[in-house]
Amino acid sequence: MLVTISRYSFPYEAHIAKSRLDSEGIPSFVADEHTINMQWLYSNALGGVRLQVPEAYAEASIAILSEDREEDLVEEYGIETKKCAYCGSYDTEFYPIGRRWAFLVFLGLDFPLFPVKDGIKCKQCGKVSKT
Ligand SMILES: [Zn+2]
Repeated sequence: MLVTISRYSFPYEAHIAKSRLDSEGIPSFVADEHTINMQWLYSNALGGVRLQVPEAYAEASIAILSEDREEDLVEEYGIETKKCAYCGSYDTEFYPIGRRWAFLVFLGLDFPLFPVKDGIKCKQCGKVSKT
């Protein structure tokens, strides 16, 4: 029996996790990928792309992926916050403009190429500015 151990907004995120599990010799399956590719705007509404493993591997898989996720967060978001160019608030988060799309192109999926720029998103006014 397969159990869902994780959900992702984008198929490539599920595939990154899947290859991590592959490298540990754990069989895994990406579910709902086709639906999300066709209607990625609604990905979150549908609950995202599911990553599934045989029940016997569930605990080990979650442990492996949660380790990786912590490292990813540190690398991606860092600890430094930047000032919003619009309202001056420091309540901001790192926002990789275009990176997701560039990665989809890298994986050979049929998405247009967007430039990758680093930006910050303001949690106060919601605007995105370039760093
Ligand atoms: Zn702002």
